[in-house]
Amino acid sequence: MTAATDCLFCNIVAGAIPADLVFENDEVLAFRDIAPQAPTHVLVIPKLHIENAGTIEGDHRDVVASLMLATQQVAQIEGIDGEDRGYRLIMNVGPDAANSVPHLHIHVLGGRSLTWPPG
Ligand code: AMP
Repeated sequence: MTAATDCLFCNIVAGAIPADLVFENDEVLAFRDIAPQAPTHVLVIPKLHIENAGTIEGDHRDVVASLMLATQQVAQIEGIDGEDRGYRLIMNVGPDAANSVPHLHIHVLGGRSLTWPPG
């Protein structure tokens, strides 16, 4: 497993920094955002270090599929996946999107009515 020792989320994967885990499998970890913007705010990350959605390569196909499937698991666990519910998936890429942690992650936001467009 490739890891960057100075990467915050790699350190969470390694167990060196604690996190409130929601879901885990061989390729993916999901944990609660430290500064939640909604009743459910979970970050789904690959255990493999990939910088962001702009640096995904063909070799990452399986990991990215696992990441997407894990968002469904998280929505089920959080009870926000019903027909009358819903949630938002967000991937920030680079400074203009306020991307603050350079390790690929999907924000799963839900548990309240979310406005559009985002800020
Ligand atoms: P982004 O701005 O898209 O890069 O998202 C990074 C997210 O990581 C932000 O929503 C932060 O609140 C969150 N975050 C930063 N440090 C931690 C941490 N130690 N545990 C959980 N979430 C964190």
